[in-house]
Amino acid sequence: MCGIVGAAARRNVVPILIDGLRKLEYRGYDSAGIAILNGSMTRVRAVGRVAELDARAREKGADAPVGIAHTRWATHGGVTEGNAHPHISSQGDLDISVVHNGIIENHEALRERLRNLGYEFQSQTDTEVVAHLVHSLVRAGRDPFDA
Ligand code: GLU
Repeated sequence: MCGIVGAAARRNVVPILIDGLRKLEYRGYDSAGIAILNGSMTRVRAVGRVAELDARAREKGADAPVGIAHTRWATHGGVTEGNAHPHISSQGDLDISVVHNGIIENHEALRERLRNLGYEFQSQTDTEVVAHLVHSLVRAGRDPFDA
């Protein structure tokens, strides 16, 4: 079962995100990742243990006051770094990053619709449709929580 952590603070939240994921390791997972916002968005992902994600985040000097984090238990798409969350939709000056627990049952219909709007998919996950869907709604000036 996946784990989700989010944090916003006046200091670097990367240690909070990583510690949060460590506390959720008992639930089981196959890969892990974070997306953080510090002017621009940075993503770090790793297959395997949270310790590996932590090492990569340190290597990258990841440091930001806002972020989301995820441990994945794959349901759609193999266990790869490219399928690990967060998934990002990036076009123009709008970056949307999402983590998700569970299954998007209508992901194929949504994928088709979003492809027709010009979105390109980078992963095999059902989750990625949510990133592009939210991006498309925000870009159109709509409230994604009211769609
Ligand atoms: N269905 C999503 C995936 O395969 C989320 C799985 C999960 O709950 O971790 O990426």
